[in-house]
Amino acid sequence: MNIVQTIEELRALRWADPSLTWGLVPTMGALHEGHLSLVRRARAENDRVAVSVFVNPTQFNNAADLEKYPRTLERDCELLAAEGCELVWAPTELIMYPPGYQTTIIVEAITKLLEGAHRPGHFAGVATVVAKLFNAVEPTRAYFGQKDAQQVAVIKQMVRDLDFNLEIVVCPIVREPDGLAMSSRNTRLNPAEREAALVLNRSLAAAVAEWESGRRDADHLRASMLALLEAEPLARVDYVSAADPATLQELTGPVESALLSMAVYIGDVRLIDNMLVGVE
Ligand code: AMP
Repeated sequence: MNIVQTIEELRALRWADPSLTWGLVPTMGALHEGHLSLVRRARAENDRVAVSVFVNPTQFNNAADLEKYPRTLERDCELLAAEGCELVWAPTELIMYPPGYQTTIIVEAITKLLEGAHRPGHFAGVATVVAKLFNAVEPTRAYFGQKDAQQVAVIKQMVRDLDFNLEIVVCPIVREPDGLAMSSRNTRLNPAEREAALVLNRSLAAAVAEWESGRRDADHLRASMLALLEAEPLARVDYVSAADPATLQELTGPVESALLSMAVYIGDVRLIDNMLVGVE
């Protein structure tokens, strides 16, 4: 496995044999089984797999969150080598944003809702860095997790709008055995918070069960999630949502399909999770 920093090194390896297909898995490192599920899917569908590891400062709207973000590059590379990944690209901030850098990509309507409404500038940072990753690697396919449902919607929109020549592949959420969605931020939870964090999965699952039993009113689904979240003393709700899976607009009345999602602080760690109902 090659581990490179510069775009020149990356491109030399990427284009050594132009006939090969490449899968790209963009990450911020601190890898867990969620990331590795994307790598395995990329492995199965492409001749070569590249994983980028870059903690992108421009998508953090909170300085403390950026500072506390776990960085474990050596271990990440061991995990990726064991998965048969060919190339790890871990650029520095200076490589990604050299002095004089001026360009930002703004995806409009879909970034104003949900995460975008609560994390100013987040999706401008995400869209811009992902566009740079796509241009540097020029992958055949790029792999993203449904864990970050709005991120997937924003990137698909950007790929359509800017005519990126690649396929976006979306992979299901990987959870711990007790249901907690895997996240690099989970390592920051103390044991009591780790237990409390189960309330995200529990409240989503309860809303899914309500929907399946025929109680399909969007306001009721939101209220049901909120009631369970508010019963957990260590949880502080940022938002709960029952939104149109395509437009991400909040729904009212009975719904045939919905993206149920939430952002919740457990202690000072902000966690997100989601489940889809009525899709496929
Ligand atoms: P991150 O390193 O948090 O930026 O995540 C990199 C990629 O892994 C993103 O496409 C995430 O959606 C995806 N990802 C993170 N956690 C999970 C998970 N628990 N299950 C599936 N994909 C995930």
